[in-house]
Parts: sequence; structure tokens; C-alpha cells
Amino acid sequence: MSNQNFRSILTGSFSTPCADNPTVAMIEAAYRHAGIDARYINCDVKAAHLAAAVKGAVAMEWAGFNCSLPHKVAVIDHLDELAEAARIIGAVNCVAIRDGRLVGNNTDGKGFLASLRDVVDPAGKKVFMLGAGGAARAIAVELGLAGAACITVVNRDAAKAETIAALVRDNTGSDATGCPWSGKARIPDGTDIVINATSVGLGDALAMPEIDLDTLVKGQIVADVIPNPPMTRFLREARERGCTPLDGLGMLVNQGVIGVELWLGKTLDAGVMTQTLRDIFGASDA
Ligand code: NDP
Repeated sequence: MSNQNFRSILTGSFSTPCADNPTVAMIEAAYRHAGIDARYINCDVKAAHLAAAVKGAVAMEWAGFNCSLPHKVAVIDHLDELAEAARIIGAVNCVAIRDGRLVGNNTDGKGFLASLRDVVDPAGKKVFMLGAGGAARAIAVELGLAGAACITVVNRDAAKAETIAALVRDNTGSDATGCPWSGKARIPDGTDIVINATSVGLGDALAMPEIDLDTLVKGQIVADVIPNPPMTRFLREARERGCTPLDGLGMLVNQGVIGVELWLGKTLDAGVMTQTLRDIFGASDA
């Protein structure tokens, strides 16, 4: 008998469509760099097959998997346990499998917060956030749990902004307000952190959310969830006005790092992951 091991640890992702999701390249590059014998399988799982896919992952003793659209809410019915933030957010994008038990987490907001903490502690800070979709919801809840003083959420559909504000007020110690967004949004005086959590700017280096750029203030942290291009027009305009830009690529990388920590208890090299994504996106800092 040989002492060699021909069995790799299995991890991966369930979503549809999935062919344009580069997470597999980012995580497998970091597995190789760390000498970890693990695979990340990018699976196209239709909504009707989610239950079978989850059972399959348990049967094949996967360490865990990510869930993206359209499974982030539906997967909850198939889990044994939810982490606190995932329960409040009501969505799961990362499942760890331990001894056959499925534990749901949400790394969207945690990935953002890990990037933010590199430049500022959000505790006691005043936040202004554009957008009220899934990413905004996860970020707002994590900011609330991290002790932000208050969060103003603005969105074209104001009801969605108020839903997120109420979620933050009811489940965290932070104050929060939902506001309608029409015309150019003005950033309130005293704002410490400005976040674009809309999809405006994705794949379009010239697109920018409608805001009054003259209300940005030197020294503010200005963050964008858009991973590609990493240096969005919004961030470029903010940088020109003396703000500190924070890109969505870091949020994506941190989500990968946090997911693998939950699955394998190992911390991957964020630099390798960042470079892999920058190469794929053909990203520059300009
Ligand atoms: P959703 O579809 O859930 O939400 C989209 C949001 O963008 C809504 O608030 C919507 O407003 C707003 N929006 C869209 N177009 C416009 C516009 N022209 N003007 C103003 N607001 C607009 O998407 P998600 O929240 O899931 O994702 C948002 C973005 O975040 C995506 O681009 C995604 O790539 C990115 N993302 C990045 C991650 C990362 O790790 N970097 C992780 C997750 C997401 P309304 O409700 O009024 O329609």
C-alpha cells in the first residue's frame, strides 16, 4: 500500500448561471499557493436541483460551499443552523459542513467589513449608503453589529431602503434611516463613510451613481462594492477630492478568505487572490 493521498478536500459553489464567476480561479490559486490539496468546483445548479445538490455535497463529504443567485434565500430551508448575521440578513452565501451538519453564513457584509477595517473602525461612525439590494442589506447589518453610530440608506425604491433601516434598528444597536433617492443624492454633513452598494459601475468604467460630487469631503472613506473594474468612476472622482477609496475587489477577496476559514480553518493568502482577480479583470489602478 502506498502512503500517497489521492483524495482532495472538496469545496465549491452552487449558482446559475455560473460560467462568468471567477471565484474558482481565485480560490484554487490560493489553495495551490498554500499547498492545500483542495478543489473548488464551480457548479451550475438550477433552482429545482438545489436540494439534491446540497444532499450531494453532504454525501460526498464536501467541506462547504458558496451559494450565489438564485439560491441565497432558498438554501436556508436545507440547513441545520444559521450564524447570527445570516439569520438577521435572511440570506446565506456560504455553508460550512461539519460532521454532516450544515451551518449557514453570510460573507457579503463580512468581506466588506474586513476591507473597511484596514482603513477605519466603523464603531461610532456615520455611514451614507447608496442602494438597498442584497449587498446593501448584508453590509448594513454588519455595520450595525460592528457599532456604526447611524446608517442612512438611500434607494430609488424607498420602501427597500426603509426595510433595511428597520432591520438595522431592530437587530443592532445602530440608528438607521431609509430615504428615497431622486435626482443627485447629497451626502449629509458629518458623514464618515460613503458606500456605493448599487450595481451602477459594474463592467462600465464610465458609469457612476447619481450623486452631487461637491458634497464629498476630503478625508471621507468612499467605498464601492463593484469588483470589476475595481477603480470605478465613483472611486476615481472621490480620490481626486481627497477621499480614501476602497474597492469592491478587496470585498470579494475577503469573502473568499473568510469562506475558506469557515470550511478548512485555514487563512489563504489574500495577495495571491487579489493578483489572480486583477489578472482576470485586466485591472489597472488608473
Ligand atoms: P441587487 O439587484 O439586489 O440590488 C441592486 C441595487 O442597485 C438596488 O438597490 C437598485 O435599486 C440599485 N440600482 C441598480 N441600478 C441603479 C441605478 N441606475 N441607479 C440607482 N440605483 C440602481 O444586487 P446586489 O445587491 O446583489 O448587488 C449589487 C452590486 O454589488 C452588484 O454589482 C454586485 O456585483 C456587487 N456585489 C459585489 C460583491 C463583492 O464581493 N465585491 C458581493 C456582492 C455583490 P432599486 O432597488 O431602486 O432597483
